[in-house]
Amino acid sequence: MTDVTPAFDATAASTAYRSALSVIAEVEPRVADAIGAELADQRASLKLIASENYASPAVLLTMGTWLSDKYAEGTVGHRFYAGCQNVDTVEGLAAEHARELFGAPHAYVQPHSGIDANLVAFWAVLAQRIESPALERAGVRHVNDLTDEDWATLRHALGDQRMLGMSLDAGGHLTHGFRPNISGKMFAQSSYGTDPETGLLDYDAVRARAREFRPLILMAGYSAYPRRVDFAKMREIADEVGATLVVDMAHFAGLVAGKVFTGDFDPVPHAHVVTSTSHKSLRGPRGGFVLCQPEYADAVDRGCPMVLGGPLPHVMAAKAVAFAEARRPQFAGYAQTVVDNAVALAEGLSRRGARLVTGGTENHLVLLDVSTFGLTGRQAESALLDAGIVTNRNAIPADPNGAWYTSGVRLGTPALTTRGFGAAEFDRTAELVVDVLSHTSPTATRDGSPSKAKYAVDGGVADKTRAAAAELVAAHPLYPGLDLA
Ligand SMILES: *Cc1c(COP(=O)(O)O)cnc(C)c1O
Repeated sequence: MTDVTPAFDATAASTAYRSALSVIAEVEPRVADAIGAELADQRASLKLIASENYASPAVLLTMGTWLSDKYAEGTVGHRFYAGCQNVDTVEGLAAEHARELFGAPHAYVQPHSGIDANLVAFWAVLAQRIESPALERAGVRHVNDLTDEDWATLRHALGDQRMLGMSLDAGGHLTHGFRPNISGKMFAQSSYGTDPETGLLDYDAVRARAREFRPLILMAGYSAYPRRVDFAKMREIADEVGATLVVDMAHFAGLVAGKVFTGDFDPVPHAHVVTSTSHKSLRGPRGGFVLCQPEYADAVDRGCPMVLGGPLPHVMAAKAVAFAEARRPQFAGYAQTVVDNAVALAEGLSRRGARLVTGGTENHLVLLDVSTFGLTGRQAESALLDAGIVTNRNAIPADPNGAWYTSGVRLGTPALTTRGFGAAEFDRTAELVVDVLSHTSPTATRDGSPSKAKYAVDGGVADKTRAAAAELVAAHPLYPGLDLA
């Protein structure tokens, strides 16, 4: 089990961090203290947040360097600033590792986050499918040559564009055309959901919706859907209606990199454009990237300055290190263990009477319907936290409690798998979760009606669970041997 966790020289890392913290403490000791406290908190926490992970010391140390000091707008070998040779090296390496890791024709590693990667992708599709033909017709060679009148025409054209994505309560993401995000203002949006009986994606329903709605962009990908998606089918649907297929693999990039999702379930050969974060199941630095087919490469590479500021060279360097780690055979073992562990967690929960959306999982996450415990997601999340278990509440399909209180809790395995948890530890975790939720009840508000936020946990169970959770994490230390004292 230990080989799923990247090995590192603990003595060297301890010296590095001790020295770094003493240098920081000379200027603002409270920041040094917070960094130290965060390590203690992460070490003590039974973290089931599906979008979080632990990057290796090599990845983390790469970020704390003077590469951060460099402006490098442009692309490798073609910069608007002098002296970018070392940034060229790290960006070139990150892109090369990404192409090799995912088998992608093109990789753009500048996006600062997952949201930025999506924005780059959306503008690239607009540029490639709408702007370029419009420019060609107008005899204009470059966006910079557009007149104000051209822009007005363009804006009008953009306003009519449509995006079809997975609905939020089925597990889709805000950046897939929803109003609180710019994507919901750039595009007219429509959603596809999941089958009300099975909770599974219904591809015939997606096809019917796509035929009716005729989107420019068909979005696939999710933050809270516990199953694989057939991207070959999604591409067929996109082709049938003339849409560009954009797959947002922010959550499951690690499972693609680790070759758990292959064939029809690997988005890279099927999508025109793939967007991702690097810090979730992929276990890299906090950031984003875009992979694409050659016809979208030029437009994707215009991400900066179209929607991004100067690239973050220190983070691109850390992406190169993380992608190099993910190309090692051990990473495939990690990715498979993440999924095996999610299955163990799901089975452990089901066996103890919990209800799971779709009845199980095929990826790194489990969506637990807590209404069978008589709780809202908000109450369940808080009760679990009181008992030392860190999760996040999440809407379930057709959620009667809306997006704020919700009726679900999302549980993920990437972080604890990095610590070396296996099936037995996740089964024990399932036992703890069910024990806490079955000893939690909603309490009434002042006027006597049932509250969606207030709750009471049996104090004995909370104490006992906190101790059990602490025992579990203590047996699987985070960054073993790393010592700041
Ligand atoms: C997490 C996530 C994002 C956003 O990533 P940030 O780095 O937080 O901007 C985008 N899309 C999906 C599907 C995600 O799960």
